[in-house]
Amino acid sequence: MSQPIALVTGASRGIGAATAVLLARAGYRTVLNYHTSAGPAQELQARLQKEGLQALAIPADVGDPQQVDQMFCQVESLWGGVDLLVNNAGIAAPQQLLTDCTYELWQQLFRTNVDGMFHCCQRAIPHMVHQKSGCIINLSSIWGIAGASCEVPYSATKGAVIGFTKALAQELGLSGIRVNCVAPGVVRTEMNSALDEQTWEELREQTPLQMIGEPQDIAHCILYLASEDARFLTGQVISPNGGLVI
Ligand code: NDP
Repeated sequence: MSQPIALVTGASRGIGAATAVLLARAGYRTVLNYHTSAGPAQELQARLQKEGLQALAIPADVGDPQQVDQMFCQVESLWGGVDLLVNNAGIAAPQQLLTDCTYELWQQLFRTNVDGMFHCCQRAIPHMVHQKSGCIINLSSIWGIAGASCEVPYSATKGAVIGFTKALAQELGLSGIRVNCVAPGVVRTEMNSALDEQTWEELREQTPLQMIGEPQDIAHCILYLASEDARFLTGQVISPNGGLVI
């Protein structure tokens, strides 16, 4: 069988980049989607190609259905249909009360975190149904499970990811497609760059395992969910979070 094709959205850095590296090393031809960070995405592509692996950086704003369609067309003409879709691209917002949140910011968060997943799934599923196999992994968050004060819009998008995952898993099971969700705890990435050292230390102390997550901790969960070892798993939420939310 030829090498399977994985598409990771938001693979220019953080959790997406760590996931793309593991998938490429596990034998996937890996699409590194990015939006604005062309330099880091191309550097990652070059790094993986140097290892003799197949990686391809493609820009697309996942919130724009036309750009998503163009990205999938490019992948299909070069390599073929996508076997594994990792909906990782996401944005957060500064912490604020819901009453201070503008409708524009609310819409921006849903456009990337929820609409992006919708557009990519719509585009990926027909090929998966046709071949009667495929795997979709969506990135939620502990805040999508537990909710976070002053992060209502972000928590709402990540809660939506969980409902979407469960419903889609029911819909696609008979087609041999698994759909799961990874809901990370606090991970050291650019998304959290506004946190100061004292806040990191407090978060570490509140976490039963006394750790802050690294992108690789999440990437390993994604790699497992994508693998044959997880063939009996669908519609589930796995939360690598050091015990912060149990
Ligand atoms: P980063 O901010 O480090 O990276 C975000 C990635 O998403 C970048 O590659 C960025 O690309 C991409 N992206 C943003 N908007 C778009 C868009 N419109 N179209 C395509 N790509 C886009 O985030 P993390 O690695 O920390 O987070 C990855 C996922 O994990 C997110 O969904 C996040 O919500 C979730 N998560 C993160 C946690 C954490 O503590 N870090 C905890 C729980 C969940 P570019 O730079 O090219 O614009």
